[in-house]
Amino acid sequence: MTTEREINPRIRIATTSLAGCFGCHMSFLDMDERLAGLLEQVEFNRSPFTDIKHCGPCHIGLIEGGVCNAENVQVLREFRANCAILIAVGACAINGNVPALRNYFDLQDCLQEVYLTGIGVTNPQIPNDSELPLLLDKVYPVSEVVHIDYFLPGCPPSADEFLQILEPLLAGQKPVLSQSRLHYD
Ligand code: SF4
Repeated sequence: MTTEREINPRIRIATTSLAGCFGCHMSFLDMDERLAGLLEQVEFNRSPFTDIKHCGPCHIGLIEGGVCNAENVQVLREFRANCAILIAVGACAINGNVPALRNYFDLQDCLQEVYLTGIGVTNPQIPNDSELPLLLDKVYPVSEVVHIDYFLPGCPPSADEFLQILEPLLAGQKPVLSQSRLHYD
């Protein structure tokens, strides 16, 4: 019997940015010409690199950014439901990072400062269109919402570090990030 992998031998990868800055995605692209080699083995599913709107069944999901609003929760759960291996990429996904500094303040105070009373605010009003995702009370690490299989630290992780975690996974092996590659800045 022909297996699905024999029909389409490429590994499917999905990526997303939740409460992130897209810096981790930019660092992924820093692989430069090595991306060509990677693309011989993988294809991208839902990702800022594609126009695919929903995550389909994938081998690997890369999550950049923490969880700051209701849509982030929805997207993260969709990735968890569809990706065999889910990787928290970068400090924001792992611990909330800089966006989580808002956790020290009351959410309503933040909204008031930004949209009502802050310097330079004109036409003060807090956006409340029903199309807008509601902010959560805090910014959360992704592991507080779903199970995460691997964590790739750094702000951002370098292109080499992306490769160090992806290459063993593509070969069906367990990745081990060398100590010299571990950094949190
Ligand atoms: S970890 Fe750093 S580079 Fe990655 S999304 Fe967060 S702030 Fe941006």
